Amino acid sequence: MFELTGQVALVTGSSRGIGYEAAKALSRQGATVVLNGRDAAGLQAAADALRQDGGDVHTAVFDVADVDVARAAVDALLQSLGSIDIFFANAGVQHREPLASYALADFERIVFTNLTAQWALGRHLAAAMASRGHGRIIFTGSITALQGRRDITAYTAAKAALHGIVRQWAAELADSGVTVNAVAPGYIRTELTQALWEDEQFNSWLKDRVPQKRWGSPQDVAAAVVYLAARESGFVTGQVLAVDGGTTAVL
Ligand code: NDP
Repeated sequence: MFELTGQVALVTGSSRGIGYEAAKALSRQGATVVLNGRDAAGLQAAADALRQDGGDVHTAVFDVADVDVARAAVDALLQSLGSIDIFFANAGVQHREPLASYALADFERIVFTNLTAQWALGRHLAAAMASRGHGRIIFTGSITALQGRRDITAYTAAKAALHGIVRQWAAELADSGVTVNAVAPGYIRTELTQALWEDEQFNSWLKDRVPQKRWGSPQDVAAAVVYLAARESGFVTGQVLAVDGGTTAVL
């Protein structure tokens, strides 16, 4: 099960963290993977590591928020690789600031990268997938879209809207062979959450609040991505799968 040989997966934001581990897991299932990020050197290092692991790996350096450049890069990939069967729309950014001092420019930047850019690139790929009668689109949502948390207003707004897009696109693409789902990670130990896992007070709050009493790992999320990417999950669409150690299931 979950064999991906012959399929091409584009994973945005995959030079490190959740995206990197998802790309590695997809590659180990046999997929050709395309890594993406803004920093060319970081991306090259990630690609080298995955090739050492035996993967068939390509790289595409672009900022997802640079919508025209991202679209052109995807078109070039479609030309050179023939298809993109799996799109893990994972690149995302965070900005922490209390509501009263949250600048409009920051709100717009975070919403544009985490939502608008995902919509633009995902829509482009959805059309290419639908024309071939098969595809898997997986967004990275967040449990903060399900339960409120202070200081991250733009991030939460964008992720909640992504969860909405999942259901809307599932309806629109239902008879095209393309499924649309999201993973909603809980607290995962990556560079994005470094300020939190270095904070003793936060760690003790987390141990109380997360039923499994631990940080999630990028591998925890990668396993869910492989499932949603596989042909075997073809009857699953429009779903948001929380990967959170029980956090959203338990008060
Ligand atoms: P990291 O900061 O560890 O990694 C982010 C990755 O995305 C890097 O490869 C980075 O590379 C790339 N990236 C960032 N911005 C852009 C951009 N504009 N265009 C292209 N690539 C970009 O983050 P995580 O792995 O923790 O997060 C991945 C996703 O998971 C995000 O969408 C995040 O919101 C979500 N998430 C994370 C949680 C957590 O607890 N860690 C919880 C819930 C959701 P580069 O800097 O070179 O561009």
